Amino acid sequence: MTLRVGIIGAGPSGMAQLRAFESARAQGAEIPEIICFEKQAEWGGQWNHSWRMGLDGSGEPVHSSMYRHLWSNGPKECLEFADYSFDEHFGRPISSYPPREVLFDYIKGRVEKSDVRKYVRFNTTARWVDYNEGTEEFTVVVEDLTSGETETHVFDKLVVSVGHFSVPNVPEFEGINSFPGEVMHAHDFRGAERFAGKNLLLIGSSYSAEDIGMQAHKMGAASVTMSYRSAPMGFDWPGTTRERPLVNRFEGSTAHFADGTIVEFDAVILCTGYLHKYPFLPSNMSLKSKNVLYPGNLYKGVIWQQNTNLFYLGAQDQYYTFNMFDAQAWFARDVMMGGIVLPPLAQRNADIDAWLNRQAALESHNAEADFQTDYLRELISATDYPEFDLDTVSELFKEWMRDKDADILGYRDNVHRSVMTGTMASRHHTRWINAMDDSMERYLNGDSQNVDTNAMATLSGFGQSPLIA
Ligand code: FAD
Ligand code: NAP
Repeated sequence: MTLRVGIIGAGPSGMAQLRAFESARAQGAEIPEIICFEKQAEWGGQWNHSWRMGLDGSGEPVHSSMYRHLWSNGPKECLEFADYSFDEHFGRPISSYPPREVLFDYIKGRVEKSDVRKYVRFNTTARWVDYNEGTEEFTVVVEDLTSGETETHVFDKLVVSVGHFSVPNVPEFEGINSFPGEVMHAHDFRGAERFAGKNLLLIGSSYSAEDIGMQAHKMGAASVTMSYRSAPMGFDWPGTTRERPLVNRFEGSTAHFADGTIVEFDAVILCTGYLHKYPFLPSNMSLKSKNVLYPGNLYKGVIWQQNTNLFYLGAQDQYYTFNMFDAQAWFARDVMMGGIVLPPLAQRNADIDAWLNRQAALESHNAEADFQTDYLRELISATDYPEFDLDTVSELFKEWMRDKDADILGYRDNVHRSVMTGTMASRHHTRWINAMDDSMERYLNGDSQNVDTNAMATLSGFGQSPLIA
């Protein structure tokens, strides 16, 4: 009987799994029967962003945590697919930090080219999963959100690729209930325009706090304060931005910080991260983890220890993204199709422990980038995913971090070279701080009436045309 594979979620990870099977099919392999369930009407996961907050049009929790004016926070050269370059998609060099819509277009381009849409059941959400130890089959109950009908499907292998940056972690703070202004979690943040002239408090000290804070600054916030629990981020912030230790309590619109200072705010955004939550899985198959580079209980970061027919993609915190999901998907595919034979449980446990021990000893962001680089190296060397210069990408992560330290508002104006094609990115026609239109149209075609003279000055140093032709 043909192997039956179920995939839950068609974000970049689920799309990578579809692409991995398609790549095997193109080389003549007989591939499994595949159904991928995607609760939204479109694929792309986080990149398929909408204005909605709370519930979507079907009454399901809104998935994407992205927002207007979200530009890539890492160089695109670090996430490029090894089998589908930016050059192939756009036909010309583009900048290193594109806005959301441009990256969304890129990930869609690859899967549209490989004709895998036919495997996806859109508007269909996974409601419950059971595993029968005797028959070694998963029973998956899904709901067609258009008709409201539930259906049952049976699979031999199940891939969970629903992401883990959608269910907000919402801690309590004394007095916050009576805060008179707006209070929200980053998941519900949709744009900073309305914070112009306001004093904004962000709780958290990671990517969301940094990016939403600088977004608010860009859109004219009067001040931005970031409150940290463990350590400040320590960037060279603009003058109206500051970091303070954790808020102890609120009294009306006044926040009392752990260092004894008190400040009044107009609005609060909890940038306190996300929970791993898999409401369609019984607890014995559900990953419980913090947002870490190597969650426990997953062999090679992918395969569930107690049931090797169950796979998780994209479950770790991410330096690498799209090409890491590919490496995982290629690996999972080969395990499912028998090309990779798994070692026994004890050996797999020892392998996980070795990674966890190494993770526990990581002391710097640079070491973290090397850690995830080595993880990719191991996965890629086990499959036929095209090899690429991982050491150079790891160095690029470090350069990116140095660039952020040097200029938190300007790092996105820098350009980097693709390790896939050797192409140097082109400098964007408008500096990020001045870019108020994040549409793909404006990004690609520019606007000769509205050339950013600061960007032109920088560009002349590079001997490039200020507008991408
Ligand atoms: P997701 O993108 O989350 O996709 C999961 C999919 O599963 C969704 O389509 C969802 O609808 C579907 N789904 C969920 N539950 C069900 C269900 N029960 N049944 C059926 N379908 C379901 N990465 C970068 O490389 N660069 C960036 O600049 C960047 N910015 C980010 C900004 C924000 C605010 C966030 C939150 C993340 C950002 N990321 C960025 C990381 C991002 O998570 C990854 O790029 C990528 O989207 C992860 O892909 P995924 O497929 O694993 O998960
Ligand atoms: P995160 O990296 O998991 O960080 C969570 C933050 O919340 C940490 O600083 C943590 O502090 C803090 N926190 C958690 N509980 C807290 C509590 N009870 N009190 C105070 N602080 C608390 O989550 P994230 O910043 O939301 O980032 C998630 C993902 O989104 C990342 O992959 C990131 O790349 C992506 N992102 C990208 C962009 C962009 O591309 N433009 C923008 C935003 C986000 P501790 O350090 O003390 O644990």
